[in-house]
Amino acid sequence: MNKHQKAKLQAAFDAMSKAERAALLKQAADRRRKQQRKKPMRSRDDEVVGKRSARGGDAIQDLALRILAEQSAQFGEQKQAISHETASVERSGIAVEVGRRRCTVEPVERPADELVDCLLSPDMASRQHEELAVGDHVIFTDDSSEGQARLVRVMPRKSFLARPDPRRPGRMRVVVANVDVIVVVVSIASPPLHPRLIDRFLIAVERGGAQAVVCVNKIDLRDAPDAADMAVMDPYRSIGVQVIETSPVKGIGIAELQAALAGKTCAFVGHSGVGKSSLANAICPTVDAEVGGVSEASGRGRHTTTQSSMHHTSHGTRIIDTPGVRSFSVEDLSDDDIRAAFVEFEPHMDVCRFRDCTHTHEPACGVRDAAESGELSQARYETYRRMIADGGQGRPDRVG
Ligand code: GDP
Ligand code: ZN
Repeated sequence: MNKHQKAKLQAAFDAMSKAERAALLKQAADRRRKQQRKKPMRSRDDEVVGKRSARGGDAIQDLALRILAEQSAQFGEQKQAISHETASVERSGIAVEVGRRRCTVEPVERPADELVDCLLSPDMASRQHEELAVGDHVIFTDDSSEGQARLVRVMPRKSFLARPDPRRPGRMRVVVANVDVIVVVVSIASPPLHPRLIDRFLIAVERGGAQAVVCVNKIDLRDAPDAADMAVMDPYRSIGVQVIETSPVKGIGIAELQAALAGKTCAFVGHSGVGKSSLANAICPTVDAEVGGVSEASGRGRHTTTQSSMHHTSHGTRIIDTPGVRSFSVEDLSDDDIRAAFVEFEPHMDVCRFRDCTHTHEPACGVRDAAESGELSQARYETYRRMIADGGQGRPDRVG
């Protein structure tokens, strides 16, 4: 094993879960014990690692990496074998659950019927956060003689939803891939509606190339003391964002939402308590999402059962509901991210005197002029200014 290979394997090892690491280390310890029993004379392996094994830890660690390398080599052989055979061995599907070294795939030809558990190569596992996400279209082999399906490749993505990776500064972590529509859910009251939050969600959605639909939920609370004036939604409608007023409790807007999502793959994002689960349940009862933290059908927390994160509705809608999607929040955005998101400003930028105009304080700014004359929404322009003033570091208003 050379240095480069070892570093790669170490990265794969580090990417594994605590439990998986423990299992692998146990496997390594077992193997070492067997080796020592078989050969009272030191084996070459033991000699190589023996120098550093005063505490025994390093030797076992090295053996663990070797076991990972063997698994990796098996993966390579499998790939070669396939390339010599007919394409029928390869099947395509959608990743519906991603674990540390495995993923669950829903084959395209028999949706929701059969789920296939696939093994990832150690190499793929180490780069998994960029390479594989729920919703990814994948090619896998399902060789029954081997009894273990393996992931072969991940197809290019049409769209994604990503957040900054907390463990790797400057890198993004894909939360979900290939969703057509991301439903941004806010509530008209309890919790109160913050347009600033909508702006941030829209930016995150647009950045990944998906279409955004905004649901203003709990519309039945329209007359509540803290209810927002629906006029705050006009700027979004004016830039072509579909805004749907909903209330799963009163059955309002559900048909409109179902129509907007028909035949599409979608995910629901928004702050906790706005009604994402209630909405998902209303358009697709099999989602059985926890309302207020408890599964409606089982009466228990949902994580007590393992199930697919992909739900099919009778309208041909696929809803992807994963812990990552559920907890998706809008984090730090760069000024460029913000600027790129205000698409309606673009036609007015030609007028700006300065090529690098930030459209905030510069003289002769086409964007500001357009906002002042009412050609652009004053509210959206103010939002833009506020976000740029935040330096991209501003946090959305936190609720509850
Ligand atoms: P989530 O955290 O976004 O998934 O929100 P939930 O679906 O769990 O809903 C949070 C709370 O809001 C629950 O108590 C729901 O019963 C309630 N809720 C959801 N939708 C509506 C609605 O349209 N009107 C009213 N009044 N309450 C709602
Ligand atoms: Zn300008």
